[in-house]
Amino acid sequence: MAAIILDGNKIAGEIRAEVTSEVKAMTTAGVRPGLAVVLVGHNPASEVYVRGKVKSSGEVGIYSEQHTPPETVSTEELLELVADLNRRDEIDGILIQLPLPAHVDAKKVLLAVDPAKDVDGFHPMNVGFLSTQRPGLVPCTPAGIMEILKRSQIPIAGQEAVVIGRSDIVGKPTAMLLINGNATVTVCHSKTRDLPEVCRRADILIAAIGRAGMVTREFVKPGATVIDVGVNQVTDRAEFERLFAGNAKREETFRTRGSTLVGDVHPHVAEVAGALTPVPGGVGPLTIAMLMANTVLAAKLRRGGLVAELSRA
Ligand code: NAP
Repeated sequence: MAAIILDGNKIAGEIRAEVTSEVKAMTTAGVRPGLAVVLVGHNPASEVYVRGKVKSSGEVGIYSEQHTPPETVSTEELLELVADLNRRDEIDGILIQLPLPAHVDAKKVLLAVDPAKDVDGFHPMNVGFLSTQRPGLVPCTPAGIMEILKRSQIPIAGQEAVVIGRSDIVGKPTAMLLINGNATVTVCHSKTRDLPEVCRRADILIAAIGRAGMVTREFVKPGATVIDVGVNQVTDRAEFERLFAGNAKREETFRTRGSTLVGDVHPHVAEVAGALTPVPGGVGPLTIAMLMANTVLAAKLRRGGLVAELSRA
Protein backbone atom coordinates (compact mmCIF):
# COMPACT_ATOMS: atom_id res chain seq x y z
CA MET A 1 0.00 0.00 0.00
CA ALA A 2 1.29 3.48 -0.85
CA ALA A 3 2.31 5.77 2.02
CA ILE A 4 0.09 8.59 3.21
CA ILE A 5 1.71 11.80 2.00
CA LEU A 6 2.13 14.29 4.85
CA ASP A 7 1.29 17.65 3.30
CA GLY A 8 3.73 20.23 4.70
CA ASN A 9 2.09 23.09 2.82
CA LYS A 10 -1.26 22.36 4.47
CA ILE A 11 0.23 22.07 7.97
CA ALA A 12 2.33 25.21 7.49
CA GLY A 13 -0.84 27.01 6.34
CA GLU A 14 -2.63 26.03 9.57
CA ILE A 15 0.30 27.33 11.66
CA ARG A 16 0.48 30.57 9.68
CA ALA A 17 -3.26 31.11 10.22
CA GLU A 18 -2.83 30.61 13.98
CA VAL A 19 0.17 32.96 14.04
CA THR A 20 -1.76 35.58 12.06
CA SER A 21 -4.56 35.70 14.61
CA GLU A 22 -2.07 35.84 17.51
CA VAL A 23 -0.17 38.68 15.86
CA LYS A 24 -3.43 40.53 15.30
CA ALA A 25 -4.41 40.21 18.97
CA MET A 26 -0.93 41.23 20.15
CA THR A 27 -0.83 44.22 17.77
CA THR A 28 -4.23 45.36 19.03
CA ALA A 29 -2.83 45.11 22.57
CA GLY A 30 0.11 47.34 21.53
CA VAL A 31 2.82 44.70 21.02
CA ARG A 32 3.49 44.00 17.33
CA PRO A 33 6.14 41.25 17.07
CA GLY A 34 9.19 42.35 15.06
CA LEU A 35 11.83 40.37 13.18
CA ALA A 36 15.22 41.62 11.94
CA VAL A 37 16.97 39.60 9.26
CA VAL A 38 20.67 40.09 8.60
CA LEU A 39 21.83 39.06 5.13
CA VAL A 40 25.51 39.56 4.35
CA GLY A 41 26.67 39.86 0.73
CA HIS A 42 24.95 38.33 -2.30
CA ASN A 43 24.59 34.57 -1.91
CA PRO A 44 21.72 33.78 -4.35
CA ALA A 45 20.31 30.91 -2.25
CA SER A 46 20.41 33.05 0.92
CA GLU A 47 18.70 35.90 -0.93
CA VAL A 48 15.85 33.56 -1.93
CA TYR A 49 15.47 32.28 1.67
CA VAL A 50 15.50 35.80 3.13
CA ARG A 51 12.94 37.02 0.58
CA GLY A 52 10.67 34.16 1.66
CA LYS A 53 11.11 35.01 5.35
CA VAL A 54 10.40 38.72 4.85
CA LYS A 55 7.37 37.99 2.63
CA SER A 56 5.98 35.51 5.13
CA SER A 57 6.44 38.03 7.99
CA GLY A 58 4.36 40.58 6.08
CA GLU A 59 1.63 38.00 5.40
CA VAL A 60 1.18 37.12 9.07
CA GLY A 61 1.43 40.77 10.21
CA ILE A 62 4.89 40.62 11.82
CA TYR A 63 6.98 43.80 11.46
CA SER A 64 10.20 42.93 9.64
CA GLU A 65 13.33 44.69 8.52
CA GLN A 66 16.33 43.59 6.51
CA HIS A 67 19.95 44.51 7.11
CA THR A 68 22.23 43.86 4.17
CA PRO A 69 25.87 44.58 5.01
CA PRO A 70 28.35 44.05 2.16
CA GLU A 71 30.45 40.88 1.75
CA THR A 72 33.44 42.84 3.13
CA VAL A 73 31.78 43.47 6.53
CA SER A 74 34.03 42.70 9.52
CA THR A 75 33.16 40.59 12.55
CA GLU A 76 33.30 43.76 14.70
CA GLU A 77 30.85 45.61 12.45
CA LEU A 78 28.43 42.67 12.60
CA LEU A 79 28.78 42.53 16.38
CA GLU A 80 27.85 46.23 16.53
CA LEU A 81 24.79 45.60 14.37
CA VAL A 82 23.72 42.68 16.56
CA ALA A 83 24.24 44.77 19.73
CA ASP A 84 22.01 47.47 18.28
CA LEU A 85 19.29 44.94 17.41
CA ASN A 86 19.60 43.40 20.89
CA ARG A 87 18.95 46.86 22.41
CA ARG A 88 15.89 47.74 20.32
CA ASP A 89 12.68 46.82 22.10
CA GLU A 90 10.55 46.62 18.94
CA ILE A 91 12.78 43.80 17.63
CA ASP A 92 11.76 40.44 19.11
CA GLY A 93 13.63 38.15 16.74
CA ILE A 94 17.09 38.38 15.17
CA LEU A 95 18.01 36.04 12.36
CA ILE A 96 21.53 35.93 10.96
CA GLN A 97 21.28 34.24 7.58
CA LEU A 98 24.01 31.64 7.16
CA PRO A 99 26.52 31.09 5.71
CA LEU A 100 28.51 34.18 6.66
CA PRO A 101 31.65 35.03 4.64
CA ALA A 102 34.70 32.94 5.60
CA HIS A 103 36.58 35.88 7.17
CA VAL A 104 33.73 36.50 9.64
CA ASP A 105 33.79 34.69 13.00
CA ALA A 106 30.28 33.22 12.62
CA LYS A 107 30.28 31.54 16.04
CA LYS A 108 31.12 34.84 17.75
CA VAL A 109 28.35 36.65 15.88
CA LEU A 110 25.73 33.98 16.68
CA LEU A 111 26.80 33.94 20.31
CA ALA A 112 26.27 37.72 20.49
CA VAL A 113 22.56 37.43 19.66
CA ASP A 114 20.44 37.91 22.78
CA PRO A 115 19.17 34.37 23.56
CA ALA A 116 15.72 35.85 24.15
CA LYS A 117 15.71 37.08 20.51
CA ASP A 118 17.42 34.02 19.02
CA VAL A 119 14.52 32.88 16.80
CA ASP A 120 16.77 30.32 15.08
CA GLY A 121 17.33 28.61 18.44
CA PHE A 122 21.07 28.21 17.78
CA HIS A 123 22.40 30.01 20.89
CA PRO A 124 23.95 27.60 23.44
CA MET A 125 21.56 29.01 26.05
CA ASN A 126 18.56 27.88 23.98
CA VAL A 127 20.27 24.55 23.20
CA GLY A 128 20.58 24.08 26.97
CA PHE A 129 16.96 25.07 27.57
CA LEU A 130 15.85 22.47 25.02
CA SER A 131 17.94 19.70 26.53
CA THR A 132 16.72 20.52 30.05
CA GLN A 133 13.09 21.01 28.97
CA ARG A 134 12.84 24.67 29.93
CA PRO A 135 10.86 27.25 27.93
CA GLY A 136 13.02 28.67 25.15
CA LEU A 137 13.39 29.00 21.40
CA VAL A 138 13.72 25.76 19.42
CA PRO A 139 15.36 25.58 15.95
CA CYS A 140 12.72 26.03 13.25
CA THR A 141 13.18 22.89 11.12
CA PRO A 142 13.17 20.43 14.08
CA ALA A 143 10.19 22.29 15.59
CA GLY A 144 8.45 21.95 12.22
CA ILE A 145 9.14 18.21 12.10
CA MET A 146 7.44 17.81 15.47
CA GLU A 147 4.44 19.81 14.24
CA ILE A 148 4.12 17.51 11.23
CA LEU A 149 4.14 14.44 13.49
CA LYS A 150 1.74 15.86 16.07
CA ARG A 151 -0.73 17.39 13.65
CA SER A 152 -0.77 14.17 11.62
CA GLN A 153 -1.62 12.23 14.82
CA ILE A 154 1.51 10.13 14.56
CA PRO A 155 2.28 8.70 18.01
CA ILE A 156 5.70 9.65 19.42
CA ALA A 157 5.76 8.42 23.03
CA GLY A 158 7.19 4.92 23.32
CA GLN A 159 8.03 4.75 19.61
CA GLU A 160 11.43 3.83 18.19
CA ALA A 161 12.78 6.91 16.41
CA VAL A 162 15.94 6.94 14.31
CA VAL A 163 17.48 10.25 13.23
CA ILE A 164 20.08 10.12 10.45
CA GLY A 165 22.26 13.22 10.85
CA ARG A 166 23.73 14.92 13.92
CA SER A 167 24.04 18.56 12.84
CA ASP A 168 23.45 21.30 15.39
CA ILE A 169 20.76 22.74 13.13
CA VAL A 170 18.64 19.65 12.38
CA GLY A 171 19.79 16.24 13.64
CA LYS A 172 20.67 16.94 17.28
CA PRO A 173 17.74 19.24 18.14
CA THR A 174 15.32 16.86 16.39
CA ALA A 175 16.69 13.97 18.45
CA MET A 176 16.31 16.06 21.62
CA LEU A 177 12.69 16.96 20.80
CA LEU A 178 11.90 13.29 20.19
CA ILE A 179 13.51 12.32 23.51
CA ASN A 180 11.46 15.05 25.22
CA GLY A 181 8.43 13.53 23.49
CA ASN A 182 9.26 10.16 25.12
CA ALA A 183 10.42 8.36 21.98
CA THR A 184 13.33 5.92 22.17
CA VAL A 185 15.88 7.67 20.00
CA THR A 186 18.91 6.50 18.04
CA VAL A 187 21.09 9.09 16.27
CA CYS A 188 23.06 7.92 13.22
CA HIS A 189 25.84 9.60 11.23
CA SER A 190 28.53 8.86 8.68
CA LYS A 191 30.36 6.46 11.02
CA THR A 192 27.30 4.41 11.94
CA ARG A 193 27.73 0.69 11.20
CA ASP A 194 24.97 -1.19 9.35
CA LEU A 195 22.93 1.96 8.77
CA PRO A 196 20.03 0.27 6.92
CA GLU A 197 19.68 -2.29 9.70
CA VAL A 198 19.62 0.38 12.43
CA CYS A 199 17.09 2.41 10.45
CA ARG A 200 14.80 -0.60 9.99
CA ARG A 201 14.12 -0.48 13.74
CA ALA A 202 12.42 2.86 13.36
CA ASP A 203 8.73 3.55 13.73
CA ILE A 204 9.72 7.13 12.93
CA LEU A 205 12.69 7.65 10.61
CA ILE A 206 14.10 11.17 10.15
CA ALA A 207 16.55 11.67 7.27
CA ALA A 208 18.66 14.85 7.60
CA ILE A 209 21.75 13.94 5.61
CA GLY A 210 22.06 16.03 2.45
CA ARG A 211 22.46 13.06 0.06
CA ALA A 212 20.01 12.65 -2.79
CA GLY A 213 17.75 9.61 -2.33
CA MET A 214 20.20 7.80 -0.04
CA VAL A 215 17.48 6.27 2.12
CA THR A 216 16.17 3.39 0.03
CA ARG A 217 13.47 0.79 0.70
CA GLU A 218 15.81 -1.45 2.69
CA PHE A 219 16.20 1.29 5.33
CA VAL A 220 12.48 1.33 6.07
CA LYS A 221 10.32 -0.92 8.22
CA PRO A 222 6.99 -1.44 6.44
CA GLY A 223 4.45 1.06 7.76
CA ALA A 224 7.05 3.41 9.33
CA THR A 225 6.67 7.19 9.23
CA VAL A 226 9.49 8.74 7.21
CA ILE A 227 10.34 12.44 7.50
CA ASP A 228 12.59 13.63 4.69
CA VAL A 229 14.48 16.80 5.64
CA GLY A 230 16.95 16.73 2.76
CA VAL A 231 16.85 19.19 -0.10
CA ASN A 232 19.11 18.19 -2.98
CA GLN A 233 19.28 19.44 -6.53
CA VAL A 234 19.63 16.67 -9.13
CA THR A 235 21.27 17.79 -12.36
CA ASP A 236 22.90 14.55 -13.54
CA ARG A 237 20.85 12.41 -15.97
CA ALA A 238 22.04 9.06 -14.55
CA GLU A 239 21.21 10.22 -11.02
CA PHE A 240 17.83 11.40 -12.26
CA GLU A 241 17.15 7.95 -13.79
CA ARG A 242 18.12 6.22 -10.51
CA LEU A 243 15.56 8.30 -8.66
CA PHE A 244 12.74 9.13 -11.04
CA ALA A 245 12.77 6.67 -13.99
CA GLY A 246 9.21 6.40 -15.31
CA ASN A 247 7.95 9.53 -13.49
CA ALA A 248 6.51 11.61 -16.34
CA LYS A 249 5.93 14.76 -14.27
CA ARG A 250 9.49 14.83 -12.99
CA GLU A 251 10.81 14.01 -16.46
CA GLU A 252 9.03 17.11 -17.75
CA THR A 253 10.55 19.31 -14.97
CA PHE A 254 14.01 17.85 -15.52
CA ARG A 255 13.83 18.37 -19.27
CA THR A 256 12.62 21.96 -19.08
CA ARG A 257 14.72 23.16 -16.10
CA GLY A 258 17.72 20.84 -16.31
CA SER A 259 17.29 19.93 -12.66
CA THR A 260 14.80 18.73 -10.07
CA LEU A 261 14.66 18.63 -6.28
CA VAL A 262 14.87 15.42 -4.31
CA GLY A 263 15.12 14.71 -0.62
CA ASP A 264 17.40 12.27 1.18
CA VAL A 265 14.75 9.60 0.73
CA HIS A 266 14.39 7.62 -2.49
CA PRO A 267 10.89 8.07 -3.99
CA HIS A 268 10.39 4.26 -3.97
CA VAL A 269 10.19 4.42 -0.16
CA ALA A 270 6.58 5.57 -0.66
CA GLU A 271 5.80 1.92 -1.49
CA VAL A 272 6.98 0.71 1.95
CA ALA A 273 6.44 3.57 4.40
CA GLY A 274 3.15 4.17 6.20
CA ALA A 275 3.51 7.95 5.92
CA LEU A 276 6.05 10.13 4.15
CA THR A 277 6.84 13.83 3.71
CA PRO A 278 7.34 14.83 0.08
CA VAL A 279 10.17 16.99 -1.30
CA PRO A 280 9.29 19.67 -2.15
CA GLY A 281 6.22 20.43 -0.01
CA GLY A 282 7.08 18.52 3.18
CA VAL A 283 9.41 19.83 5.88
CA GLY A 284 10.50 22.93 3.87
CA PRO A 285 7.30 24.99 4.30
CA LEU A 286 7.32 24.27 8.04
CA THR A 287 10.71 25.91 8.54
CA ILE A 288 9.44 29.40 7.64
CA ALA A 289 6.12 28.86 9.43
CA MET A 290 8.01 27.98 12.63
CA LEU A 291 10.20 31.07 12.25
CA MET A 292 7.00 33.11 12.36
CA ALA A 293 5.76 31.12 15.36
CA ASN A 294 9.14 31.57 17.10
CA THR A 295 9.04 35.35 16.57
CA VAL A 296 5.64 35.49 18.27
CA LEU A 297 6.88 33.21 21.05
CA ALA A 298 9.99 35.38 21.53
CA ALA A 299 7.78 38.48 21.80
CA LYS A 300 5.69 36.77 24.47
CA LEU A 301 8.52 35.13 26.43
CA ARG A 302 10.62 38.30 26.42
CA ARG A 303 7.79 40.22 28.01
CA GLY A 304 6.43 37.49 30.20
CA GLY A 305 8.94 34.93 31.25
CA LEU A 306 12.13 34.19 29.38
CA VAL A 307 14.00 37.18 30.80
CA ALA A 308 13.27 35.93 34.30
CA GLU A 309 14.10 32.39 33.20
CA LEU A 310 17.46 33.58 31.81
CA SER A 311 18.43 35.48 34.94
CA ARG A 312 17.56 32.49 37.12
CA ALA A 313 19.63 30.16 34.89
P1 NAP B 1 24.92 18.66 7.67
O1 NAP B 1 25.29 19.67 8.68
O2 NAP B 1 25.76 18.49 6.45
O3 NAP B 1 24.79 17.25 8.41
C1 NAP B 1 24.60 16.07 7.70
C2 NAP B 1 24.62 14.90 8.64
O4 NAP B 1 24.43 13.71 7.85
C3 NAP B 1 25.94 14.73 9.39
O5 NAP B 1 25.69 14.42 10.75
C4 NAP B 1 26.62 13.56 8.67
O6 NAP B 1 27.40 12.72 9.50
C5 NAP B 1 25.43 12.76 8.20
N1 NAP B 1 25.79 11.97 7.03
C6 NAP B 1 26.40 12.38 5.89
N2 NAP B 1 26.60 11.34 5.06
C7 NAP B 1 26.14 10.25 5.69
C8 NAP B 1 26.09 8.87 5.36
N3 NAP B 1 26.55 8.42 4.20
N4 NAP B 1 25.54 8.03 6.26
C9 NAP B 1 25.07 8.47 7.44
N5 NAP B 1 25.09 9.77 7.81
C10 NAP B 1 25.63 10.64 6.95
O7 NAP B 1 23.43 18.92 7.10
P2 NAP B 1 22.15 19.59 7.80
O8 NAP B 1 22.34 21.07 7.90
O9 NAP B 1 21.76 18.83 9.00
O10 NAP B 1 21.08 19.35 6.65
C11 NAP B 1 20.74 18.05 6.22
C12 NAP B 1 19.85 18.15 4.99
O11 NAP B 1 18.65 18.84 5.35
C13 NAP B 1 20.43 18.94 3.83
O12 NAP B 1 19.97 18.38 2.61
C14 NAP B 1 19.83 20.33 3.99
O13 NAP B 1 19.74 21.02 2.77
C15 NAP B 1 18.46 19.96 4.50
N6 NAP B 1 17.79 21.01 5.28
C16 NAP B 1 16.51 21.28 4.96
C17 NAP B 1 15.82 22.22 5.68
C18 NAP B 1 14.40 22.49 5.33
O14 NAP B 1 13.85 23.50 5.75
N7 NAP B 1 13.76 21.60 4.60
C19 NAP B 1 16.44 22.92 6.73
C20 NAP B 1 17.75 22.59 7.06
C21 NAP B 1 18.43 21.63 6.32
P3 NAP B 1 28.77 13.22 10.24
O15 NAP B 1 28.30 14.07 11.38
O16 NAP B 1 29.42 11.95 10.66
O17 NAP B 1 29.52 14.00 9.20
